[in-house]
Amino acid sequence: MAIDKDCIFCKIVRGEIPSFKVLEDDRTFAFMDINPINPGHALIVPKHHAPNIFETPDDWLAVSMVTARRVARGVEAALKPHGMNIVQANGPGAAQSVFHLHIHVVPRAKDDGIKMNWGIRPGKMDEIKAIAEKIKAALPA
Ligand code: 5GP
Ligand code: ZN
Repeated sequence: MAIDKDCIFCKIVRGEIPSFKVLEDDRTFAFMDINPINPGHALIVPKHHAPNIFETPDDWLAVSMVTARRVARGVEAALKPHGMNIVQANGPGAAQSVFHLHIHVVPRAKDDGIKMNWGIRPGKMDEIKAIAEKIKAALPA
């Protein structure tokens, strides 16, 4: 398993940077985005460091998507959004800003006006923490 000691998501996985963790298993880690585009915006990463979808081995990609679906089910049960986008960015044209493969779970409201490349706006940590607890409690087995 590759690790990049300078990578911010590798540091989160290893607990060197704090995060609002939603779940962890032996190969994947899920946590809340600190700049949520909507309440419940979560990120899923493989513990293996690779910068993008092209360089991520198939098995790591597969387990990450399965974890993303599990988190999405938790978000669905906890927050009941109108819908959800599962998004993954590669490269500057796609506004990728962290170069460790990650899958966004983005809860959506019908008229929230979110477009691709939505930009970064800091969230309120107490609100993010409370929502993380709600999603954790709603995760399927
Ligand atoms: P990208 O733009 O690469 O698709 O998404 C990277 C995401 O990581 C952004 O939505 C950004 O808010 C999030 N992010 C960046 N740094 C941190 C951090 O230190 N902690 C958490 N929880 N999220 C982060
Ligand atoms: Zn990494």
